[in-house]
Amino acid sequence: MKSYAITLLPGDGVGPEVTYVAKEVLHAVAERFNRRFVFDTQAIGGAAIEASGAPLTQETLVSCRQADAVFLGAVGGPKWERSAQRPEAGLLELRKALGLFANIRPVRVYDELIDCSPLRRTIVAETDLVIFRELTGGSYFGEKRRTADRASDECVYTVGEIERIAHAAFTAARARRGKVTSVDKANVLETSRLWRETVTRLHAESYADVKLEHALVDSMAMQLIRQPRAFDVIVTENMFGDILSDEASVLGGSIGLAPSASLGAGQPGLFEPVHGSAPDIAGRDLCNPIGAVLSVALLLRYGLKLREEADAVDSAVERALRAGARTADLGGDIGCRAMGDLIVDQVLRSDAFTHCAHAHWG
Ligand code: NAD
Repeated sequence: MKSYAITLLPGDGVGPEVTYVAKEVLHAVAERFNRRFVFDTQAIGGAAIEASGAPLTQETLVSCRQADAVFLGAVGGPKWERSAQRPEAGLLELRKALGLFANIRPVRVYDELIDCSPLRRTIVAETDLVIFRELTGGSYFGEKRRTADRASDECVYTVGEIERIAHAAFTAARARRGKVTSVDKANVLETSRLWRETVTRLHAESYADVKLEHALVDSMAMQLIRQPRAFDVIVTENMFGDILSDEASVLGGSIGLAPSASLGAGQPGLFEPVHGSAPDIAGRDLCNPIGAVLSVALLLRYGLKLREEADAVDSAVERALRAGARTADLGGDIGCRAMGDLIVDQVLRSDAFTHCAHAHWG
């Protein structure tokens, strides 16, 4: 039996609580689908600073590089706010070391949770979109200059950087509803004009079966709120993606529900819930583990290419919610572990019929 090596990085705050649930879900997948996962748990962030003085150690990095996929809980917290070593630096260093260039954030509004959304039912119902954000280029990584009264952040994109994220987005769209919305600011920015030309050419050359539309980022920020279900796959550059993905993450009703994946070429992917270490509720079994569990589904789908298993996990979450399971952030009173147990139970009981209805991911 093939075994899959998974490095677990629980991190800080609620990170260990949601990582515990993620591991339990993977155990259930192994049992239900006859798979073998081998886990290696390593420190990152504040936990690593406490243990060894640095937020990312060589030992953790080696484990991640050797893994088939990496799962991370969360890093950071008030304890290290004034320390010279920042927990978040460990995560940034890890993303860079693994060459992760595509950040993938699905946003789904569950019918059962529709009243938790800040938007009206008629607007958010059936929202099911995914944002592909370019992660290594743009103004976050360009040359930074500063004098006493002037500052600049250079924004650079190459054709190769745009092509690789666009390929990923078009491929995902083919396995979903077949539509890509490419977001830029081509009326003002030269990098955006290159972005639009490159995406348009790639589409004509290789993905003519996918519907492509272009949107300006300011208009996109409005449309995401006005008609979120109009979108399937959204692809955009680093800073626009950073802002739009946070905007979109509130549509579902709680940040505790949102998963993410970061992928590179030929290196293991990194899978983590969108939320941070939530120090205000850490250690009290109050957090929602669903963002972490849906990140496990992304790990199975994109990291290990185990599509049936990924569908089973997505579907188990849906069925647990349909059965009425709610953590505090969703207005309920069950704890993180109890929510995890209910999802695990659903994974163990899943069969070909219960999860085929949810097979909408590529
Ligand atoms: P946060 O996401 O940790 O918390 C924001 C709010 O959402 C809090 O009220 C929290 O209780 C709630 N929340 C978060 N996750 C939840 C969950 N699973 N279930 C229920 N409620 C949840 O963001 P923050 O407070 O801005 O940051 C706290 C720390 O986390 C900071 O040190 C920050 O740097 C770090 N952070 C880390 C990551 C990461 O590890 N990827 C991401 C964001 C923030």
